[in-house]
Amino acid sequence: MELLKQRIREEGIVLNNRVLKVDGFLNHQIDPQLFKSIGKEIADRYRDAGVQRIVTIEASGIALALMAALELDVPLVFARKKKSILMVDDVYHSVVYSYTKENYDITISKKFLPAGEKVLIIDDFLASGEAAMGLAKLVKDAGDEVVGMAIAIEKSFQPGRERLENAGFRVESLVRIKEFKDNKCVFIED
Ligand code: 5GP
Repeated sequence: MELLKQRIREEGIVLNNRVLKVDGFLNHQIDPQLFKSIGKEIADRYRDAGVQRIVTIEASGIALALMAALELDVPLVFARKKKSILMVDDVYHSVVYSYTKENYDITISKKFLPAGEKVLIIDDFLASGEAAMGLAKLVKDAGDEVVGMAIAIEKSFQPGRERLENAGFRVESLVRIKEFKDNKCVFIED
């Protein structure tokens, strides 16, 4: 997606050739017009997949997923990163192993993940694939089918895509980063 690439080129900050910060338009301050285009792009890629629900993870996935959910006209539910003690029996639960931060629990209330639906998983970044695999587990535990995953920014030099594809998932990334070189992004061209 050229528009997103352009914003990353102009405003993205690469730290230590390792992490891309996109706080100016995606992860902290949000550009609504850009998000509208992202939502449309995701929806276009999955328009014929029969998506009935979108699942994402708080916090950065929510705004992206909302725009896609509006386009596809389906409900959206986001996984919470900390389980609430009050609702422990009523949630689907998974653990996400983080290489950069501490491991965390993700939960979705069972009442917001009814069985038998086709679900699209959305997230902002794909790196090791841990977050996406954790979300897929929740969806499968609910008795739903993962029809695919849509990611805004894929770090293709990390094993996430391969892991997800090996697990049988369709992965659509709007922008794919081949490498970080001198703290700049080198993209895989479409
Ligand atoms: P994974 O679970 O695939 O290793 O990583 C995905 C999650 O890690 C995303 O939800 C995102 O929050 C975070 N993440 C991974 N790499 C980056 C990065 O380069 N920049 C930012 N801003 N977040 C990242």
